[in-house]
Amino acid sequence: MSTKTPALPSICCYCGVGCGVLVEPLPNGDVAVVGNPDYPVNLGALCSKGLNLQYTVNDRSDRLLYPQMRYSKGRPLQRVGWDEALQRTAAVFQTFIAKYGPDSVAFYASGQCLTEEYYVINKLIKGFIGSNNIDTNSRLCMSSAVVGYKMALGEDSVPGCYDDAALADCFLVAGANPAWCHPILWRRVEARKAAHPAAKLIVIDPRATDTCALADLHLQLIPGTDVVLLQALARVLIENGDVDADFLAHHAEGYEAYRALVLARPLAEAAALCGVPEEDIRLAAHYIGSAKAFLSMWTMGLNQSAVGVDKNLCLLNLHLLTGQIGKPGAGPFSLTGQPNAMGGREVGGLSNLLPAHRTLANPAHRAEVQQFWGSGPLAATPGYTATEMFEALEDGRLKAIWILCTNPVTSLPNARQAEAALAKARFVVVQEVSNRSEALAYADVVLPAAGWAEKEGTMTNSERRIGHLARATAPPGEALPDSEIICRFARAMGFPGFDFANAEAIYLEHARLTAGTSIDISGLTYSILKERGSVQWPYRAGQAAPDTARLFTDRQFHTPSKKAVLHAPPAAFRSEAPDDEFPFILTNGRIRDQWHTMTRTGKVSKLNQHSPRAYLEIHPRDAAALGVAEGGLVRVASRRGEVRVAARLSAGIRPGVVFLPIHWGKLLGSDLNRANNLTSDAVDPVSKEPDFKFCAVQVAKY
Ligand code: SF4
Repeated sequence: MSTKTPALPSICCYCGVGCGVLVEPLPNGDVAVVGNPDYPVNLGALCSKGLNLQYTVNDRSDRLLYPQMRYSKGRPLQRVGWDEALQRTAAVFQTFIAKYGPDSVAFYASGQCLTEEYYVINKLIKGFIGSNNIDTNSRLCMSSAVVGYKMALGEDSVPGCYDDAALADCFLVAGANPAWCHPILWRRVEARKAAHPAAKLIVIDPRATDTCALADLHLQLIPGTDVVLLQALARVLIENGDVDADFLAHHAEGYEAYRALVLARPLAEAAALCGVPEEDIRLAAHYIGSAKAFLSMWTMGLNQSAVGVDKNLCLLNLHLLTGQIGKPGAGPFSLTGQPNAMGGREVGGLSNLLPAHRTLANPAHRAEVQQFWGSGPLAATPGYTATEMFEALEDGRLKAIWILCTNPVTSLPNARQAEAALAKARFVVVQEVSNRSEALAYADVVLPAAGWAEKEGTMTNSERRIGHLARATAPPGEALPDSEIICRFARAMGFPGFDFANAEAIYLEHARLTAGTSIDISGLTYSILKERGSVQWPYRAGQAAPDTARLFTDRQFHTPSKKAVLHAPPAAFRSEAPDDEFPFILTNGRIRDQWHTMTRTGKVSKLNQHSPRAYLEIHPRDAAALGVAEGGLVRVASRRGEVRVAARLSAGIRPGVVFLPIHWGKLLGSDLNRANNLTSDAVDPVSKEPDFKFCAVQVAKY
C-alpha cells in the first residue's frame, strides 16, 4: 500500500504574479514542487524560478539552525536557547524604550513575509510598543504606486485582474520588463497578441528588453523623463478628442487643471526633452485613444524614482482621461515585485499605514484599531521609512533594529551608508533563514526562521488574490515560523493578545479587523481558501458572489466626492544630474533567473547559468569611446562608491545610459559587484521610495 503523502497547494514565494504550486512532502523531509494545474493564475505553468523552488528548500546547507547571541560588541556569536535569546532581546528593548521612548526601536521587514507575520509585527509595534517604526522593503518597491492610487482613486486599490490581459486591445508597459520579471503573467499578453494580432503593445523603457520583442512601439525615453512623456501622451489624447467626456464630467475631477498643464508644453518640446520622436508619441496616443480596452502595467521604472508618485499619477491620468478603468480588459495595473507586498499593505505594514487601509492621521481610525487590539493609544505620527531607519541608526536616534526576511546590506540604496548605520547600531536582531544574509555580520542576536514550505499562512498577489500556503515539511534545527518568533517575543515583553494557537487564528483576527472596510475579507476563512484555492478581495461575511475580479465597475471611487482625481504635477527633476565628472546615467534591474539578493536563487546552479556574473550593459558607441570591448573589465563609480564588472555591449540601451543588475552583493566574497554601492539615497518626497533607477556615474576601462 502506498504511503505517499498528497501534494499540498501553495503559492510561489518569488514575484507578485503569485503562481499556484503543489508541494509534495517526500519521506526524507525534502519536497517536490510542480505547478498547480487548477490554480487560476498559472494553470500549472511556472517560470524558471518557480520550477526550481524545491532545490532552495531541499538544500539546507546554508540554513541557520539555532538562536545565537553575542553579549557585547566585538565578542563572537554563540549558541543559546530560544528563551535566553528572546528574554535578553526583550530586556534590551524594554531598556531602550524606558530610557529613550518607543521610537528608539524599529522593525524592518519584507514583502516576502506572510500576511499573518506582517499582522503580528504591526500589532506588536503599533499597538503595544507604541511606535509606528515598522517599514519593509516594500518601501523600496511599491510605495509610489500606493500613494498614486490613494491620491487618484482614494485608496490603495488595484482595479483590475489578470483576465483583463485576454481582453485588452492596447497594452502600455512602462518601466517594467515582465517578460523576465513577471513571466507567467506575460504569457497571457503573448497569448492575447497571438490570438488578436491587432492588439497593440507600447513599451516605455530606456532599454530594449525582452518585453520589447513583442512591442508594436518602443518609446526609448531618456531616464527620468517619464512625466514629460506621459503628459505629452495626454496632450495628444486631448487634442485628438480621444477623451471620455462623460466619465470626466461625472466620475472625475481635476480635468481642467490637467488639460491646461499638458497643453502648455508643445509636443516638439516634450519630444526633445524625453528623447522620443514626436511621431512615436502621436502613434502611441493613437493606439491608446482608439482602444476599446486599454490596460497599462508598470513596476520599478515608475516607482523607484525621486518623482515616482508624479509618474504614477500621470500614468493613472491616461486611464482617467479615457475612462479606461473598472471595465473588462481595461485599467491601470501595478505589478507588485514581491509575492506579498499587497498583503503587507492590507495589514498596514508600513510606517504610515494602519490595518485594512485605515488612515494613520485619522483619530477615529486609530481609536478603532486600539479598541480592537485592546492596546495602548496608537501614535499619530508616521514612523521611520526604510531609508530613514538607517539614517536614524547612523545618527543615534534609533538604538535597536530588528531585521527580518530581508537583506538590507545589499538591497538598500547607498549600501555603504547602510553598512555604516548597522555598524553604529546599539543592538541588531536578525531573524533569518539563510546564513548568506550580509546583515548577519552586524547581528547581536540571530533568530533562525522557518522558510517557504516550512510554515503556513496566506499571501495576496498583484490582482488582490489571496492564496493559502501549506506547511509541507518541518523547518531544520530549531528554526521557527516568523509569526511564532514575534509572538513569543511579544509575550516576553509582557504584552497580552499574542497567544495565537496557530497561523489561522492570526489570520482570522486580521480578517475581523477588515470588516466594514473596502478590503473587507471578514467572510474569508482558511477553509474557504483551501476549498476554493484562492479568492480576490473583498470577500465580505455572507457574500453571495464568489469573489471580486474588478473594482470601480460602478465608477464610484474611494474619495470623499466618489470621483477619481486627476492630479497635475509639474515635470520636476529631483535626481542626481549627470555632469562632466559623472556623465552617464546608471539604471538597474532584475535579470531573468535571479531573485533579489540571491540568498535563494543563488543556491541553484541551473539558475546561475543564465547570467553567472554581474555585468554592465553599455551602448557600443559609448564602449568604443572608452576603449572597452565586450567582456572587458570596467570600473563604474558614483559619488558614493564603485563597482568593477565585465562590459556587455548592447545596441538596445540608449547611448549615455548604462545598466547594472541588482542581485549581487557580497556573496562571492567581494562587494564590487553590488549595484547599490553606486545608487543614490534621494527619495520621492511623498512616498519616500528611493531613486534607485537614476544616478550619475563615470565609466572607465579597468
Ligand atoms: Fe513564481 Fe513569479 Fe515565476 Fe510565477 S512568475 S513561478 S510567481 S517567480
